[in-house]
Formats: sequence, structure tokens, C-alpha cells
Amino acid sequence: MIIYHSRTLIHQFLSYQMLEYRYDFTLDSHEKMKRIGKGIQGEEQAERWLTEFFADCDCFYVNDLRLNVDYEQVQIDSAIVFHNSVIVLEVKNYSMDIRCQNGQFYSIAGEPLTGLNNQLSKLARLITKALQSYDMHIEVKVMPFFVDVNQSVHGVLVDGPVLTPVNFRHVLRKFVDKKPGNQAIADYLISLNQENDFNRKFEIDYSHVAKGIYCPKCHLKIIKKSQRNYYCETCDKHFSTQCIVNHQIDVFRHLFSDRQLTTRVLHEWVAGEISHRTLQRILAEHYVYEKESRSYSKRE
Ligand SMILES: [Zn+2]
Repeated sequence: MIIYHSRTLIHQFLSYQMLEYRYDFTLDSHEKMKRIGKGIQGEEQAERWLTEFFADCDCFYVNDLRLNVDYEQVQIDSAIVFHNSVIVLEVKNYSMDIRCQNGQFYSIAGEPLTGLNNQLSKLARLITKALQSYDMHIEVKVMPFFVDVNQSVHGVLVDGPVLTPVNFRHVLRKFVDKKPGNQAIADYLISLNQENDFNRKFEIDYSHVAKGIYCPKCHLKIIKKSQRNYYCETCDKHFSTQCIVNHQIDVFRHLFSDRQLTTRVLHEWVAGEISHRTLQRILAEHYVYEKESRSYSKRE
């Protein structure tokens, strides 16, 4: 399988991860970002399974597209482009158990999951239209893929079209094609891709971000053990001064790319927990100051 269009880590979500423990987000923002994070985890899980399953197949794997079809927006989590067919997967990382009946989804209590049902029918309608207007012989299948191994989806047929961790290999086996995937179709899908809204920057108020030094892995506050040794209790991991300084700079530049980064600014950003001299030494050794962006970039 050829990964033809990869998922990019959403700018806002990365900002959120960096700031989760040091910025006063509203409850709504926390919940929204947790939902996005869970969705991303699900998509990554699906990608691991699919790349493994289709390892020997020359199909194209296209991720994370936002299309505009007839003035309607539609999002493709994952699509696999074979020689004569395209499978579009709508990946769902739900925790709740659900029931599937006649192609519609319901809660266990019997309430129709209207949002999900509408989303799937809209996806099928628009994707089929977009692809068949390009090549009327292409077969288009839309399949929801419920990836949480602890979730029960009742009423799923062994042969699909609803995928779960249990049946996806069986369902997708019949699509494994010896012929190479249709590259023109993969290119066409990518040509329809629109800018992702979530890639727009978060507006973060610098003065409201807690300053200090934070762990590059879990983003919690990190303890300075000695002049050259930093320790994260949560990750049980030691870091060098340079690694810690690099990370604080990366975070600053990710969040405030339009602000000037100087030794003085960096000293304030780490709340004075690393000396001015050390910061200056690391900047001089490993970074080049770029006048245009008014920021330091890593020396190659
Ligand atoms: Zn950590």
C-alpha cells in the first residue's frame, strides 16, 4: 500500500497538547479537543491495521481530505484507491455500544443515531457523485469502521459493509487487487482537497500562558534535578538541558510564530528557570537568527 496523502497533525490539536496544563481553556474547548484527540487516535489505529493488511498490495492510501462537492463540504478520513474501485472509510472511535439494522445505526436503547446516519449517507452520496463524474466505471463503497476494540456493534454482518476490528480483514480481502491502484483517481481526490479549518492557528493570549519548563513528551511541568539534568516524574524520563531548551523553543515558535524570539524573551518563557547564560549559549551554538521571521531556527 502506498500512503499517498498523509494525515497532518492538526495545528490546533498540537497547540492544545502543548498548553493543556498551562492555559485556562474553557470547558467547551477541553471537551472539543478531547473529542478531536480521540478521533485522531482512532484514525491512527485504522491506519496501522490497514497498512499492515494491504502491505503487499499496490493500492493508494489517501487520508484526511476535505472536499467541496456541489457546494457541500465532505470529509474523507481514509480512502483506499484500487484499480477499479475506491473504498472510503469513515473511522469512528466510539466507546458506547451501538446496534446496526438495515444500514442504520441505533443506540442500545433504540434511539436512532441521526448524526451518524446522516453523515454516512451524505458521504456516500457526495463521494459517489464526485468520483463517478470523473470516471463512471469506478466502483465506490463507503464503510464505517468502528475501531474501538472494547465497543460492541450489534447486528454487523461478517461480509460488511460495516467494519470492526473483528471483521475488517475478512471484508476487505475481496478488494485485494493484483493490479496497481488507479493513480489518476488518487490524484483527482487530492486535487479536490480544501484547506483544513483546524489548521488555522489558535489565538492564544501570551500573558495567560503559565511560563516555566515543561516535558517534551507529556507537556507537564518538569523538575530541574541539576544544571544538566531534568526529570519528568510522569514519564519517568531524564532530559538534557539542550533537549529541554529545544522543546521550549519549539513550543514558543509553534504558538507564537509572529513573536520575536530573543534570549530575553526565552528567559521569560522559561520563567527564569534556566540561566540567561545557558540559553544564550544554546541559541548561539544550535540556532541561527533569521531577520525575516524575527526568530531563531535550528542550525542544520
Ligand atoms: Zn513527561
